Amino acid sequence: MSAGLASTLTGFRPTEGSFEAYKREQSRIARRRLYPLTVFYTTYALIITLLGLRSAHPWIGIVFYFAGIPVWSLVEYLFHRYVLHGRFPPGKGIIRRFLHERLDPLHWEHHEKPFDGWHISGELKDILPLFFVAAPFSFLFPVFTLPVLLAGVVQSYVGEEWTQYFLHFGKSRNPLFRHLKRYHLYHHSPRGMEKGYGITSGIWDLVFHTQYPKPVRKLLSENGHGARIKKMTRSQASRLFRERFKKR
Ligand SMILES: [Zn+2]
Ligand SMILES: [Zn+2]
Repeated sequence: MSAGLASTLTGFRPTEGSFEAYKREQSRIARRRLYPLTVFYTTYALIITLLGLRSAHPWIGIVFYFAGIPVWSLVEYLFHRYVLHGRFPPGKGIIRRFLHERLDPLHWEHHEKPFDGWHISGELKDILPLFFVAAPFSFLFPVFTLPVLLAGVVQSYVGEEWTQYFLHFGKSRNPLFRHLKRYHLYHHSPRGMEKGYGITSGIWDLVFHTQYPKPVRKLLSENGHGARIKKMTRSQASRLFRERFKKR
């Protein structure tokens, strides 16, 4: 399923047995991009969490840390739906130019080439400017509140980036993993592109009514080979992306 979808979307013309080699090479590239981000945010999260645990209110700190998980999950949904799938046409002015040049191509290429290691997930510099505003701001509040919450958020971000990596490159018999993988790969298909924005869970798709239609959900949750993703030719794929997803 995934190899068929992949080759039609990537434009990669697999010769016998070579698609696996292509994926291995791309997964190496993706991993190398993820290591700096993982080390940086995990170290930050560990230090702040320890400070929170050593504060006057460690239990409140733990609650705030775990609250970071749903907070990140919501950010992940909103960012994917409105920023990555958003359209930022070219225009005058620094802000419009910045949005067009920095945000417009970010996700388009991931949809066009789902196994391209340069576009699977982000890298350290992506949300660093935001982090450098959020981290000092959080310290306007006691360490066991917002700072610890932010630690939970950035640690969840690291988890989500690796989940995205494994959804594309990983294999597992774990039913939850298999469901998430089918759920995300359907998002790469022509009918799923404007729905199913959740990567680590489908909760926000439920809340904001971007769930796949019921028959699709049923197929995706069947723990077997129920899901059949409609394959596209290369030209169908690029026409579709240009019409419905991003105008370049
Ligand atoms: Zn997407
Ligand atoms: Zn993807």
